Amino acid sequence: MHELSVAYHLVQTASEAARRAGAARVTCLRVRIGVLSCVHPDALEFCYELAAQGTPVEGARLVIEEVPVEVYCPRCRRQLPLKTIQKFCCPQCGRPTADVRRGKELELASIEIPSSHQHEDAPAKDVQGPPLEPPQEQPSQADSFPLASDSQESV
Ligand SMILES: [Zn+2]
Repeated sequence: MHELSVAYHLVQTASEAARRAGAARVTCLRVRIGVLSCVHPDALEFCYELAAQGTPVEGARLVIEEVPVEVYCPRCRRQLPLKTIQKFCCPQCGRPTADVRRGKELELASIEIPSSHQHEDAPAKDVQGPPLEPPQEQPSQADSFPLASDSQESV
C-alpha cells in the first residue's frame, strides 16, 4: 500500500524534526499532497494513525493540504491550474502541455510542537490565549484584603 510507506516516512520525518527541536512530542502535522501524487487523503489518514503509534507523533492532528495541478503554457507564458487531470491542456488556449509545475507534492509542510513543557496537554491554539488582564486590577485586590494596620498597636 503506497499510503502506508508515505505515512511512515512522514511520521519519521516529523519525529526527527521534533527531536531536533527538543520536543517530546508533536501536536500537529501539516502535509502537502499534490493531486498527482497518487496519495488518497482518506487512506493516508488511516495509515498515518497506524504509523504514528508508539512515536512522538502519536495523537497529533494530521492536516492535509491538497495541492491542485498547475501547468505552464509556453504559448500563454503563464502557469495556470488545470481544470481536469484527464486532459493536460492549457486552460486558457487549450494547447496540450505536459509542463506540470504543481500537483506532484508529497511533503511535510510543517509540524507543531508544544511551546511550553508545563502545558504539554494544552492544544497549540490555546498557547496564545486571551489577552492579559489590565494591570489596574492589582490595587483593588490589595484593598479588598487590607493588611493589619499599625493604628491598633499605636493606640
Ligand atoms: Zn495557453
